[in-house]
Amino acid sequence: MATPTPQKFEFQAEIKQLLDIVIHSLYTEKEIFVRELVSNASDALEKLRHTQLTEKEIHDDKLGLEINLTTDDKAKTLTLQDYGIGMTRAELVENLGTIAHSGSKQFLKALGEGDKKNANLIGQFGVGFYSAFMVAKSVKVYSRSWKTGEAGHVWSSDGSGSYEIEEVEGLSRGSKIVIELKDDCADYANDGRIKAILERYSAFVSFPINLNGQHINTVQALWLRSKSEIKEEEYNEFYKFQSHAYDEPSLRLHFSADAPLAINALLFVPQENTEKMGMSRLEPAVSLYCRKVLIDAAPKDLLPEWLRFLKGVVDSEDLPLNISRETMQDKALIEKLNKVITKRFLKFLDEEATQRPDSFIKFYANFGIYLKEGAALDFTHKDQLVKLLRFESSLTDKAKHTSLADYVSRMGADQKEIYYLTGANRSTVESGPYLEAFKARNLEVLFCYEPVDEYVMNNVREFDGKKLIAADHGDVKLTDLPQADGALSADDTKTLTTWMKASLGERVAEVKASDRLVDSPALAINADKFMTAHMRRMMKAMNKDGADMPQRVNLEINPRSAVMKRLFETHTTAPEKAKLVAEQILDNALISAGMLEDATPMVARLYKLLESV
Ligand code: ADP
Ligand code: MG
Repeated sequence: MATPTPQKFEFQAEIKQLLDIVIHSLYTEKEIFVRELVSNASDALEKLRHTQLTEKEIHDDKLGLEINLTTDDKAKTLTLQDYGIGMTRAELVENLGTIAHSGSKQFLKALGEGDKKNANLIGQFGVGFYSAFMVAKSVKVYSRSWKTGEAGHVWSSDGSGSYEIEEVEGLSRGSKIVIELKDDCADYANDGRIKAILERYSAFVSFPINLNGQHINTVQALWLRSKSEIKEEEYNEFYKFQSHAYDEPSLRLHFSADAPLAINALLFVPQENTEKMGMSRLEPAVSLYCRKVLIDAAPKDLLPEWLRFLKGVVDSEDLPLNISRETMQDKALIEKLNKVITKRFLKFLDEEATQRPDSFIKFYANFGIYLKEGAALDFTHKDQLVKLLRFESSLTDKAKHTSLADYVSRMGADQKEIYYLTGANRSTVESGPYLEAFKARNLEVLFCYEPVDEYVMNNVREFDGKKLIAADHGDVKLTDLPQADGALSADDTKTLTTWMKASLGERVAEVKASDRLVDSPALAINADKFMTAHMRRMMKAMNKDGADMPQRVNLEINPRSAVMKRLFETHTTAPEKAKLVAEQILDNALISAGMLEDATPMVARLYKLLESV
């Protein structure tokens, strides 16, 4: 069986093709070869551990399960050694000389008839062991199987066409790969360089990795351990290490799934929302792993945009190790992962909201804005997201919140729509003239304080079959209230509104009696449906066209108000003064609506009015 002299072998045709591409490609991120070889070493150790469970006779049974790397920058070599399962002579031929493993096969398949030197595909599929030839002049694999009675061998090749196998005395169990680096790749014999690569890709490999005698991977892959065994501090430490964070997470979701994909995930919500604090837009930060080996630290499509505040790790065994690093070609798989994780996280938030409402509201105060973004833009998850939205309302106390579902449960039989009002804060909304009509009719109104709310409500459009309607919108139709005593008659009201329109001129599009006022004398409603006051302010702030268009408002007056009754008397007896009063009523209504753009003329007018007191 033993063959003392070196024996020469031709690579299988596909391997030749593969090597030709690998060696001549201009793929820039050559460093992935370290990840590939370390994960092979880790696989070999894992296999040995399994073998130890069933086999009694194992060569060098006492050797520790670890991976050792050494660099020699004088000799320009990098050596990786493991005490894993090792390879027999036949296995060396089978595993390193023929195309057996999935990664390389997929790579060649993806190449198809296309560009034979497509460098990117190397990054997408990886080429396993052969990636070493991106940086190597020659590769030597010393290997000895765990099986007692097998000889050790060295497999060697320069990557061109053929390889040699020769028997070697005195090897210990496992494999040792010696890479003689190409001149332009000599920096892979640099300790610091390799250390950085190991920390990036192999930080969580389960077996100790030592580089020139120094232990590198000290943090555990917490996401694969069982929840009940993990202490709070361990989670927090892991979060800080993995997310490069200084705070402690505010929420955590640790879960695993078997179908439709095998997933282990550990997700964190940070303490602070830095985007809200005015820092730059967050980038995806949940890393994708396959069995503890990093595939992509910041995959773009792993989660929907609105989940960009999440940190942590997703690990799926179903990923081919080298699925893709920069362009993530295997879209379908990533989409599937995205779906499963998003659904699970939404379920988690829903549980928080029902089981720990205080904690949820704390989260919502900081990160609710992302849920709103999702509710407005992510059609797939809209329904679940809308359920999570929370608002203060005319029926809640300050700083207490309601969901849309709770709002709907309180709706009376005749109420068909869900009403909301936007404003800077509770007192602005409550003191405005719009709310009273709803209060008088026992209709609940949601309060929206954030600039995006109007946009979100417009996009969400409805909940549970009920339209979301801005309470200050011109189209709102409310039921009649019983006529209060002493209101102006319909004729007098008509006379007054006609006179007011004439004296206010271009400043108003229309003046009419209102059914929505109870105490206030008047209110202003934007005549332009699509250009609300809020929108106008935003456009102004952004310096957008259209912000300078003259504003057109409808003025609605309250025939029950003492101010209006007095104005009806004075408009004939003291027309000059009545005109000033009408102007002032309009300005007051504009102020309440947040639509008064220039207050200067008002000040002069007020002094004039005060003279006559
Ligand atoms: P993959 O890891 O996807 O199977 P590779 O090209 O990385 O493909 O490796 C090919 C095969 O070579 C492996 O499946 C394994 O059987 C064998 N192999 C590679 N490295 C080692 C090692 N350090 N110890 C034992 N076997 C190894
Ligand atoms: Mg491999």
